[in-house]
Amino acid sequence: MSESTLRIGLVLPDVMGTYGDGGNALILRQRARMRGIDAEIVEITLDDEVPESLDVYTLGGAEDNAQRIATRHLQRYPGLQRAAEAGHPVLAICAAIQVLGHWYETSAGERVAGISMLDLTTSPREARAIGELVTTPLIDGLSQPLSGFENHRGATTLGPAAKPLARVRDGVGNGDGAGVEGAVQGSVISTYMHGPLLARNPELADHLLEKATGTALAPLDLPQVDRLRKERISAAR
Ligand code: GLN
Repeated sequence: MSESTLRIGLVLPDVMGTYGDGGNALILRQRARMRGIDAEIVEITLDDEVPESLDVYTLGGAEDNAQRIATRHLQRYPGLQRAAEAGHPVLAICAAIQVLGHWYETSAGERVAGISMLDLTTSPREARAIGELVTTPLIDGLSQPLSGFENHRGATTLGPAAKPLARVRDGVGNGDGAGVEGAVQGSVISTYMHGPLLARNPELADHLLEKATGTALAPLDLPQVDRLRKERISAAR
């Protein structure tokens, strides 16, 4: 964290805001404030260049057409790519996992170049994947199951530089037959989970905050958050 305020970038909520994933930025801000860390959300819309100096970034899901508009903007203003190269954490949800890859094919079969922050590609599945998703995380620092709601047509295949975020227990996830979900590469974490993700998975929220602040955070005792987490995991069964 460069200054005394943690700056959370909510990237293109005007086009990548269909699924309420902007809630992830609210969760980061709230969990930071509950530790006495001053935090603010910086909304980056299509009217703005993408800054490279924020402490953590989040991007949400979108329809095929909206995600194409977002892709063009991120190509034109490569602040997100530079921030990730500098090690700033980035959380990318659903359409954003596709946009951050090398290319994705829309459900109409058109191939669109992504921004190649993640070594992965996406092609349409025959059937849309819709429903609850529960996974076991595969990355250091996470031990609790992750849960979310998935709604996507794209199936994502990882290249060697991208590692899966988690193994699928229930649901589809990346949907290319590998049984895994999401992608992690450098400081980028991406997933198909809506929910919003960080409301349902506080451990992941704190993992991002620790990376963004460079400090270990004391756990928060919030029984209602833990209840939500457990409820959503058992609802998937
Ligand atoms: N349009 C993409 C797909 O259907 C992503 C959808 C989403 O973000 N939920 O695969």
